[in-house]
Amino acid sequence: MRRRPPHVPKRRRAAEAIAAFAAPLAGATPCRGRRILRFRSFLLGSWHLYKLGSDHPADDRADGSPTKHIRVARMSDSIIQKIDAAPARPLLPDRLVSGYEAFLGGRFAREQDRFHHLAEKGQNPRILLIGCCDSRVSPEVIFDAGPGEIFVARNVANLVPPYSPNDDLHGTSAALEYAVLGLRVEHIVILGHARCGGVRAYAEADFDPYQKPLSAGDFIGKWISLIAPAAAKIGPAAEPLDEYSERLALASIIQGLANLRTFPAIATLEKRGLLTLHGAYFGILEGKLLALDEAAGKFLPVSQDAHAAALSEPRF
Ligand SMILES: [Zn+2]
Repeated sequence: MRRRPPHVPKRRRAAEAIAAFAAPLAGATPCRGRRILRFRSFLLGSWHLYKLGSDHPADDRADGSPTKHIRVARMSDSIIQKIDAAPARPLLPDRLVSGYEAFLGGRFAREQDRFHHLAEKGQNPRILLIGCCDSRVSPEVIFDAGPGEIFVARNVANLVPPYSPNDDLHGTSAALEYAVLGLRVEHIVILGHARCGGVRAYAEADFDPYQKPLSAGDFIGKWISLIAPAAAKIGPAAEPLDEYSERLALASIIQGLANLRTFPAIATLEKRGLLTLHGAYFGILEGKLLALDEAAGKFLPVSQDAHAAALSEPRF
């Protein structure tokens, strides 16, 4: 014989349905939204419960039961408590929390002395690296760098604006100034990379202006207009877009070095042999690194043997 499910009063089912509906919303809303939601739920719940009580006056008419108004108030309190108990919006994405926990158990545990030293003594990186924001080209990963080793400034397409002291906001120039004059770095590296979205956006507009014209009113359009001198130097595209984009990315690194030298302090320090400028280019697909030989005007492979050995390793 089948057992009947336990009886749940309609008003409780209504209250739980409202609370279940409201809880995830409450968890995803900021403080003000949460307050509004609580108030709405209170009104909605009260109305539903009152109506059920009126329609079914016998439901809760047991001996000694509280009056209808008291019951309605208690049920509304129950809804609010459930909403309050709903999980709050996560403070950080789960991926970052799990990564942080892995860091605590791994690198931080191994290099705690190093972090302690850096906190006490301050940072003293010898290299400033200007890289792209692209998530595939993290300098600390490519160069296996630890904390305190590389001062990194990342922007769209690893561009360097020319020296232009005016009232505009110059994020990259501020990083340059701090690294060169504050930290007194000995090297500045511009790290470009293959398949750069910023360079490609410029190349597409250059390739076919009807397809995706740049707008000087957009932040990206204005920013990547810094590529224009490099594009002018290599001339119009005579090859497919992909190849042209790669050629333009290399030329843009060279232009970036020229722009670095427009900063008086950088030019002076380089002439005195206190600062060296470098250009590099990372191929994402095969992990190939090229470095610029400025005298020859060519990008040459770095650590070819180690790269060949890495590619010959079996992949699992
Ligand atoms: Zn990029």
